[in-house]
Amino acid sequence: MALTALDVFKHLPKTNCKDCGFPTCLAFAMQLAGKKVELDKCPHVSAEAKAALDSASAPPVKLITVGTGEKKIEIGNETVLFRHEESFYHETGIAIQVSDSLSVEELVENVRIINKKSYERVGFEIAINIVAVKNDSGDAATFTAAVSAAENASDLPLMLICDDAQAMSSAAEKIKASNPLLYGVNAANVDAMAKVAADLGLPVVVSADLDSLPELAQKTVQAGAADIVLETVADSFSKTLSNLTQLRRAQLKKNFRAVGYPMLANAVDTENAQMETNRAACFVAKYASLVVLSSCDDAHMLPLLTVRQNIYTDPRKPVQVEPGLWEVGDVGPDSPVLITTNFSLTYYTVEGEVSASRVPAYILVIDTEGTSVLTAWAAEKFTTDMIAAKLNEDGGAKDKVKHRTAILPGQVAVMTAKLKDESGWDILVGPREAMGIPRYLKSLSI
Ligand code: SF4
Repeated sequence: MALTALDVFKHLPKTNCKDCGFPTCLAFAMQLAGKKVELDKCPHVSAEAKAALDSASAPPVKLITVGTGEKKIEIGNETVLFRHEESFYHETGIAIQVSDSLSVEELVENVRIINKKSYERVGFEIAINIVAVKNDSGDAATFTAAVSAAENASDLPLMLICDDAQAMSSAAEKIKASNPLLYGVNAANVDAMAKVAADLGLPVVVSADLDSLPELAQKTVQAGAADIVLETVADSFSKTLSNLTQLRRAQLKKNFRAVGYPMLANAVDTENAQMETNRAACFVAKYASLVVLSSCDDAHMLPLLTVRQNIYTDPRKPVQVEPGLWEVGDVGPDSPVLITTNFSLTYYTVEGEVSASRVPAYILVIDTEGTSVLTAWAAEKFTTDMIAAKLNEDGGAKDKVKHRTAILPGQVAVMTAKLKDESGWDILVGPREAMGIPRYLKSLSI
């Protein structure tokens, strides 16, 4: 059970010294019980009290790290059921499965394909996170060779899928320095597999049906495997999704410590890549911290990674680009000047269409606090005086081009006359939608 603010208060020094940034110990206790601050903000708490308060200060979903170095992935530590309540913090890891039944050459080729699955979207790189090597061969030596080959061919973290503890131990021992995720523990192998994870100090997946999962997870932790990831085994997609939701509610609403770990969902469907992607997207939304797939075609991976990026963007901080004058292509003094806002999605949509037109152009990006054109205009963050000032800024558009013509987004054509008066520039009305930009720019004569 979660501790209440009063339970927490009993363990604090009660001096109201304010060193934690709160006016009283009770105020700090209320924040701590609500998991809004960390216990170490109070420098005066005793070691005994710290131990007693561990359950109040620990996150409801433990943070687990897989891999090492730049490509490591952290999963868990979520605090809300719904993104709009605050934000989701650690995006779902995407793991692509490769089989040890392939020849080593084929396996390495597949791993290299996975390595390359990285895309740029709205200024960010979105990519696959984990290579999952599956022991389909049933042979320990083959599995170890495949795992070693995958590790050599990729700097992505690895997941080792094998239910034989001895085979897992041999393979994991070889690459333990890279902190792979073991998959894993089930009811039949719990003692042996938990011991492998504990001995090697590696994170491990615990798989069971919803009813058995808390007990199996406890047993694994008691065996010394402190970092675990949960998988609910169910006979249908809808049941798995329902289980993930129940577990997340148990973590956050009931503070049920036995299941306070990130969750994995297996979306693998080797017969139907589209269905696999659809399921994975649902698991990303609710509430998997790690999803395993078998296919990484661009046609499926890009939409999935886009869904993940959208869900794991902090809704309180619109994704923005730097305001200013951006150059697209080999611009010169005759290049057109387009005006837009600094909402990343808007900017990169415009930039993509300008690039596609092959007409070198300047894009004047106005600081609208990361809002789109119409939203910014309605909120008076995209005003004629702001745009006029930027068009005439020293070292900006007026010094880069010899003409005095700028293109306003078609959605805000209503601003044209006033902007023309205030800026002294000729204002053209551009297309209402960015997809009209290539044709528009090609037909332009400034
Ligand atoms: Fe109380 Fe500790 Fe905060 Fe001081 S720093 S007010 S003792 S909780």
